[in-house]
Amino acid sequence: MNSSQHTPCASAKAAPPQCAKRILLIEDDGDIAALLSRHLNDSGAQVKHVTSGESGLELIGTSNWDLVILDLGLPGIDGIDVAAKIKQLRPSLPIMVVTARSSELDRVSGLDAGADDYVIKPFSMLELVARVRAVFRRLDNQEAKVSDRALVAGDLVLDLDTHAVLIHGKSIALTAREFGLLGEFVAHPGKVFRRGELLERVWGTQYEGYRHTVNTHINRLRAKIELDPHNPNYIQTVWGVGYKLKN
Ligand code: CA
Repeated sequence: MNSSQHTPCASAKAAPPQCAKRILLIEDDGDIAALLSRHLNDSGAQVKHVTSGESGLELIGTSNWDLVILDLGLPGIDGIDVAAKIKQLRPSLPIMVVTARSSELDRVSGLDAGADDYVIKPFSMLELVARVRAVFRRLDNQEAKVSDRALVAGDLVLDLDTHAVLIHGKSIALTAREFGLLGEFVAHPGKVFRRGELLERVWGTQYEGYRHTVNTHINRLRAKIELDPHNPNYIQTVWGVGYKLKN
């Protein structure tokens, strides 16, 4: 994760590396995957390819994906079940389904919680890349609602003017202290904060007796921003020292 003043990443091609869109490609056909990866890489995206739904689901929580491209005809877990599971884990993560022409079309239309878009095989690479760009344009337009005074770390956006917090474009309600706390982490990614340091920065006190307050607030913050607060993806405990934002 990295943090910077919020700069729009509108053009993937000309974008700096931290703006490159991250695509998880779940496709068991090696030839299609290789072609897709090449075209998407050429368009400025970073592509991670896996060949089964199981491997894809394992990776969902490990990175800040911008898009999943999902083949429905997979060995092991069926693509439709993979889509449903992804939507459960990351509701705002877009999924583009690729599917063989006749056999799976009906099933695609049955994806109520799943695909944001779908492409029928065989498809032209140009068409697919254009559709991927369209998904990213929609995402960038959502992000553009955030003011220029925003802190960004991966999929976390903190708007310093409105105190809005967005994760994957979804708004999260935080108290002023929670916002202040999260702001310290996002402004200093990877820095390990001692509890006393957080007390001083966020509460303006050095009184040691308040240190449990930091723990309490970290737990509340995790309950709001983490998928699994016991296995946090953002704010990590550094045992014997304090906390840091995972980077
Ligand atoms: Ca397949």
